[in-house]
Amino acid sequence: NRFCESIPKIELHAHLNGCIRSSTFRQLLSSPTDQMRLDTLDKEFPMGDTHSRMANVFEKFSLLRSCVTNLDDIRRITHETLEDFISDNVIYAELRTRPRSFQNGAIAASSYVETILETMQEYEDKICSRLVLSIDRTQTLEQAMETLKLAEKYRTQIVGLDLSGDPNVKSFERLRPVFDLAKQINLSTTIHIGELPDEECLNENNLIIDYKPTRLGHFNFRTVDQEQRVLKEQIPLELCPTSNLLTMNLSDLSTHHFDLFYKNKHPLTICTDDSGLMDCRLSSEIFQIVQTFRLTKKELYEFMFQTSNLIFDKNMIELCQTKLKNFSEQSNL
Ligand code: 5GP
Repeated sequence: NRFCESIPKIELHAHLNGCIRSSTFRQLLSSPTDQMRLDTLDKEFPMGDTHSRMANVFEKFSLLRSCVTNLDDIRRITHETLEDFISDNVIYAELRTRPRSFQNGAIAASSYVETILETMQEYEDKICSRLVLSIDRTQTLEQAMETLKLAEKYRTQIVGLDLSGDPNVKSFERLRPVFDLAKQINLSTTIHIGELPDEECLNENNLIIDYKPTRLGHFNFRTVDQEQRVLKEQIPLELCPTSNLLTMNLSDLSTHHFDLFYKNKHPLTICTDDSGLMDCRLSSEIFQIVQTFRLTKKELYEFMFQTSNLIFDKNMIELCQTKLKNFSEQSNL
């Protein structure tokens, strides 16, 4: 595990509010009723199947959303998230978040975005962090278009567009025009895919693969045909071990799809998803993979090196690779 901690790491799938430290979450939840609800959700989670686990997580997200109420809160969450990644030797991180306004619109979504970008800037000498804006599956096309406009406005620090939120809501087809526009302006895209085993979800997978986003998130449930298409088209995958295990209801990683894609030399990245809510760190996510699939130090190094090619900010690839090479020399790999 020490090796996994010390190797320079790249985080490409982290939802900003999901990275909240549990102590901060508890502090921000002011009402005793909400605190009790959180305790109950924590207790109920392990008992459920994929659907109820997903519902449980999304209820937690809604509690979280209700207690982050101003710019100071989001500034604090950004600070703490970056501190936590730095202490885990993460050298490059793409954080994603759905822009939001506060106080019934008195504080605009652009201020939310600017606050995060300013905080990221403060840490620029310790960690290279970039922002990806999330569109939520429940949003309207107009709202999604606003998010795209924000991404264009802050183009140097905002490097991509994500589609996430409750996977029960099938909305890719409806929101596709925004993703088409993103492609036209060369903005990278990442889309959550295959989070539920239902037929509806599997059908939506086809539409998402047809669109061919820059990267795909999770891909837990898929047909053999979909698997083959993603392999053939080399669409990179963001895999999140703890989160995938929890939502897929697996007891260990031995049957996780990392194995299949890794053996096929598919472009892959290991990520945390929601490090605060899932109580995990990137080094421990990677360690679980290393242990289960018996990767050597050299293989892990090579894995991390190929991950560096998947980052959205192409200007930063060289920097990441130099840091990795220096580490490799120091460690006599
Ligand atoms: P935020 O966008 O508020 O910074 O981060 C939290 C949000 O990310 C959640 O409300 C949820 O919409 C989205 N999210 C976090 N984890 C997951 C996940 O595993 N699957 C999906 N589909 N959405 C997620």
